[in-house]
Amino acid sequence: MSSPSHSAPLLDSLGRPLGQLRISVTDRCNLRCHYCMPEEEYHWLPREDLLSYEEIAELAATFAAVGVDKVRLTGGEPLLRRDLERLVGLLAANERLRDTALTTNGILLAESAERLRGAGLGRVTVSLDTLRPDRFLALTRQDMHDRVLEGIRAAAGAGFRKLKIDTVVIRGTNEDEILDILEFGREIGAEVRFIEYMDVGGATMWAPGKVVSRAEMLAGIERRYGAVEALAAEDAAPAERFALADGTTFGIIASVTAPFCRTCDRSRLTADGMWYLCLYAQRGTDLRGPLRGGASREEMVRLLSEVWGGRTDRGAEVRLEARSRGPLVSIESLRRDPHLEMHTRGG
Ligand code: SAM
Ligand code: SF4
Ligand code: SF4
Repeated sequence: MSSPSHSAPLLDSLGRPLGQLRISVTDRCNLRCHYCMPEEEYHWLPREDLLSYEEIAELAATFAAVGVDKVRLTGGEPLLRRDLERLVGLLAANERLRDTALTTNGILLAESAERLRGAGLGRVTVSLDTLRPDRFLALTRQDMHDRVLEGIRAAAGAGFRKLKIDTVVIRGTNEDEILDILEFGREIGAEVRFIEYMDVGGATMWAPGKVVSRAEMLAGIERRYGAVEALAAEDAAPAERFALADGTTFGIIASVTAPFCRTCDRSRLTADGMWYLCLYAQRGTDLRGPLRGGASREEMVRLLSEVWGGRTDRGAEVRLEARSRGPLVSIESLRRDPHLEMHTRGG
């Protein structure tokens, strides 16, 4: 199959390029974080609908042909998908994809870090919301905190280009651990990013009062360490980065109080091949249908170009303008369409 080249970058209707693709490889998860999967029952994507690794690699190559140069594997829990290193290898072999990254809850990372690194995975982000095993159990419904810490240590030793820790900060849950997690990151050699609790997908327990704002997080950090220095932004990364006086860096992702839609170059592919242009988007584009129906690379490139060219999404900014705010999607809607879930869309 020939691969059409792109010259002028593909821009959406607000002038934003198509740069990063988050690929969810499964909607299943081995945790039940209360800010993401608080329910007892879920409707899972049918197995026959899941894209094979070859199909994912073909779609990634099509995205690369229209400008995507960074991909991130996510889920659900991506390490639940067997032999994930095989997919990493297929993606790493694509010269246009200069960066392949992974976001994981870390539970299966200790046994897979070396293999993933060997296959060409460049960067790893592990989600870690607490350093306390009892809190972890309450937050995730699984008694597996030690495995996450083991996974983080294994990743730190495996020589990835970058290791990050993502912490969703929730009032009444873990806002008292910001400084401890910052220290933990410093010790282990990982940059911590604190994320404001978002009202997306399955966050049916979300309420405005549970959001700890960027301003509040910064104030707490400055009380302990003194003034922090704001650093220049990394590409179109969502995190604002800061440095403590000793050089320790950290990030804050203020998706709720200071959204960054204006520079957003990210889109999301679900495990069954639905393409979403925004974390908050209610509708997506089916790419599995045309792919399995035999569409050529050129036809797929045309489809991506048309859809991205019409993109107007700025979900978090629109939410900020809403007068009263609660969970974005009702439980009934989530049951009707699991694609609206964060664990299906990949975060
Ligand atoms: N299971 C993997 C993990 O937890 O890292 C990957 C998928 S998870 C959906 C991706 C990221 O989304 C995680 O860092 C998680 O903390 C974040 N996330 C999920 N629900 C969120 C919410 N309501 N607000 C902010 N971040 C959320
Ligand atoms: Fe938690 Fe990630 Fe699983 Fe959601 S997908 S429940 S954030 S581990
Ligand atoms: Fe991008 Fe949508 Fe998030 Fe805004 S809300 S930063 S447009 S994904």
